[in-house]
Amino acid sequence: MRATIIHAPGDIRVEDRPEPKITAPTDAVIRTVATCVCGSDLWNYRGINPVTKPEPIGHEYVGIVEEVGDDVTHVKPGQFVIGSFIASDNTCPNCRAGYQTNCLHRDFPNGCQAEYIRIPLADGTLVATPDQPSEDLIPSLLTLSDVMGTGWYAARAAEVKPGATAVVVGDGAVGLSGVIAAKELGAERIIAMSRHESRQKLALEFGATDIVAERGEDGVARVKELTNGVGADSVLECVGTPQSMHQALQSTRPGGNVGFVGVPHDVQIDGQELFFSHVGLRGGPAPVRAYLPDLINRVFEGRIDPGKVFDLTLPLDEVAEGYKAMDERRAIKALLRP
Ligand SMILES: [Zn+2]
Repeated sequence: MRATIIHAPGDIRVEDRPEPKITAPTDAVIRTVATCVCGSDLWNYRGINPVTKPEPIGHEYVGIVEEVGDDVTHVKPGQFVIGSFIASDNTCPNCRAGYQTNCLHRDFPNGCQAEYIRIPLADGTLVATPDQPSEDLIPSLLTLSDVMGTGWYAARAAEVKPGATAVVVGDGAVGLSGVIAAKELGAERIIAMSRHESRQKLALEFGATDIVAERGEDGVARVKELTNGVGADSVLECVGTPQSMHQALQSTRPGGNVGFVGVPHDVQIDGQELFFSHVGLRGGPAPVRAYLPDLINRVFEGRIDPGKVFDLTLPLDEVAEGYKAMDERRAIKALLRP
């Protein structure tokens, strides 16, 4: 089969690899219908995460079940399925508490930018759609595997409530998905922080009511201006840099909450400052598995269309161009068709 391998920073190739096989009775093998490049894949592509040997890459996927192990009962061959980027049994105490990404038995599907993928803990990880989806739903369903579920978690962690004012820091695919989530959870005012015209447009289309292009202290001042001087009820931090975290914490009102889903890189938080701010803080890898049934319904009902974050679609063989386009910020997110 054809599969994407990262050899070194900036060096992405498609190569022939053996097709994955069932290795545990809880595995499933799926034939990939669509996959994509994640902002977090760029950490490897840019050499910020070390790449020491050639490795399969990719963790977002939708596909058709080809084969299941003997213990798998919740999905069967022929079904269209979506799964989380972290495999979970969905039965342990952490899963039952809604934190499937901290499953006691978690596993990491990797190498998903390929024609076939082996998914561990298939019963807990995969959710089948009610019917075979039409072609136009596939991009939106694919986002549920990571970015839309992550934006949803950011909004939940920031405790977005009906009537709330929400700020979204970050205008990548997760931030834009966060705008959708804030709207669905009833936020009345949604301030999207973005300097890029095409992303501002998409944010407005997804439900943002205000755009703030300023950064740093100017960005904080602008949010304060828009919120009667107090800051927002809920802030979704979707970047993971010291600047974006500072922006998020400073933009939140006392008693408000920050949901942070950008993987922190060199982020330090001042304990005293946090203490006196009365700001609540919760983050982490999003338990997207918890949201799959609900988000699948919202996509099938046409309530949300997060697939619009894909502004580049390529055949799998041209995956290297997908990475390049995202790295150079020519594309928000690249969808790949094997
Ligand atoms: Zn678990």
